[in-house]
Amino acid sequence: MKINVVQIPDSGLALQFTREGDWFNELLPEKGKCDFTLQRADVACSVKRTCETIVVEGTVKTVVGTDCSRCLEPVQAPVQGEFRYVLVPAPEDAERKAGDKFDAEAELNPDDVDCAYYHDDVIDLDPLIFEQIVLQIPIKMLCLESCKGLCPQCGANLNKGRCDCPVGPIGGKFAVLKNFKLAK
Ligand SMILES: [Zn+2]
Ligand SMILES: [Zn+2]
Repeated sequence: MKINVVQIPDSGLALQFTREGDWFNELLPEKGKCDFTLQRADVACSVKRTCETIVVEGTVKTVVGTDCSRCLEPVQAPVQGEFRYVLVPAPEDAERKAGDKFDAEAELNPDDVDCAYYHDDVIDLDPLIFEQIVLQIPIKMLCLESCKGLCPQCGANLNKGRCDCPVGPIGGKFAVLKNFKLAK
């Protein structure tokens, strides 16, 4: 979703749009490599312009699918984020327009808000939206809070019933102690 800065009216813009499919594919650090899936993302945002500074503020909602951190079964979870970005022309763009009068440092105040640059009068909202979604994805997603996970020995999904492996520390991380003998 791209916005031409020049076309933002003085009253600002109110946008509602959805992103679907592989829209974020190009935004991945490694193209096409992603350990989650996204359903349709619904975005509602306002875009306001003061001179060359653009403020984009809104919400994004989607549903993330991934594997349960414990049992590796597919899980889905709704995620929702609120965002506010302040965008200014990239320094090289601004210099081109304003000559050497422009002080890029003074324009950016990265302390309290998310700041970003735009190039050639165009703001691409996709990277901002994707960033917000990624920030909202829990580090660990579980199919159930009480997910029993996989048996460390045979890999069986313990939510579906017990396997025949011996329980207890033997075979687990204390297996080495099985052969431990006190020196006499
Ligand atoms: Zn699970
Ligand atoms: Zn087992």
